[in-house]
Amino acid sequence: MSQLSPHTLSSLDIIIPMFNEEDGLEKFHHQLCQVLGPLPYRITVYYVNDGSHDRTGKILEGLAECDPRIVAVDLSRNFGHQAALTAGFDLCQGEAVICMDGDGQHPPDLIPQMVDLYLQGFDIVTTQRIDDRQAVLRRWPSAAFYWLLNRIGNTQMVPGAADFRLLGREVVDALKEMREYHRFLRGMVAWMGYPSAILPYLPPDRLVGKPTYSLRRRMQLARDALFSFSLIPLQAGLLVGGIFFLLALAEVIYVASLWLAGERANLEPGWSSLMFMLLIVGGTITILLSFIGIYVGLIFQEVKRRPIYLIRTIHAGKTEPGKEAPSPAPVETTSPN
Ligand code: UDP
Ligand code: MG
Repeated sequence: MSQLSPHTLSSLDIIIPMFNEEDGLEKFHHQLCQVLGPLPYRITVYYVNDGSHDRTGKILEGLAECDPRIVAVDLSRNFGHQAALTAGFDLCQGEAVICMDGDGQHPPDLIPQMVDLYLQGFDIVTTQRIDDRQAVLRRWPSAAFYWLLNRIGNTQMVPGAADFRLLGREVVDALKEMREYHRFLRGMVAWMGYPSAILPYLPPDRLVGKPTYSLRRRMQLARDALFSFSLIPLQAGLLVGGIFFLLALAEVIYVASLWLAGERANLEPGWSSLMFMLLIVGGTITILLSFIGIYVGLIFQEVKRRPIYLIRTIHAGKTEPGKEAPSPAPVETTSPN
């Protein structure tokens, strides 16, 4: 690895997306403040309320009113975790930026270690979950997903990497240039390169409640990751088509050999084998067509160039004299069509 050049740091921003977290929010905020308190940097915490239906927005507004370090951002509806993080990245102005979940599963205690690695010269500090206690039903699909993604994609991703990472200003600015609608931030950050460090951690349980990330959303994220970081599914048709071509050739040779050996009588009208081939070929064509359908669908949504999120309000804490309140970075204003 090339020589690292140490960084200096004066301002640190934290981005935390929140969706229906009213029960654990105050406890989490308390934990976070205990870690941030002794840090000698100018700190701003961006809580992004991702269209919660409960009191999350109100609580965040209250926190922003009594603490100048807090900015409560209200999105106009639930846009999803990745879009909420994007809103935070667009707004933040710190030299280093940390994004993390607000349910306690990304322990704030790791923040000082992440900052240390940044100061040593790493532009990206990625955390990696090491968790044997995770339910098999969740661990195996996740391991299989990363295995597949690293096999067929052209960007290598750390298995178990969480959306709990520190990015230097240069990396955040580069990320802001990437305005794709279907976002898989883990992959986008890996794609950018830059000197990175990996910090393993044992994830604690949620402070309260159940995950708000539904299975459907999780599947959508997996789809976005697989299809936006790999074109292999589109090329799978070539391989499968080639295999069927070889099978057909083998059959022609077999039939011709029976003819030449004068054993034509052995050739029964093979209904079952014909049916088998028909089903296999039909199924394969349908699957490959659906891959193309998924890509066309994703392209259709990308070309509309809709904003990734919409902000309704921003509550910034009362600013200290001499320190400017954060102003929203320009958000894409293409009109939705
Ligand atoms: N979250 C969000 N928008 C959503 C779903 C979740 O901002 O549509 C937030 C949520 O409040 C939490 C983080 O994203 O801070 C991770 O969500 P969750 O704990 O449900 O996911 P998991 O830990 O199971 O991956
Ligand atoms: Mg969680």
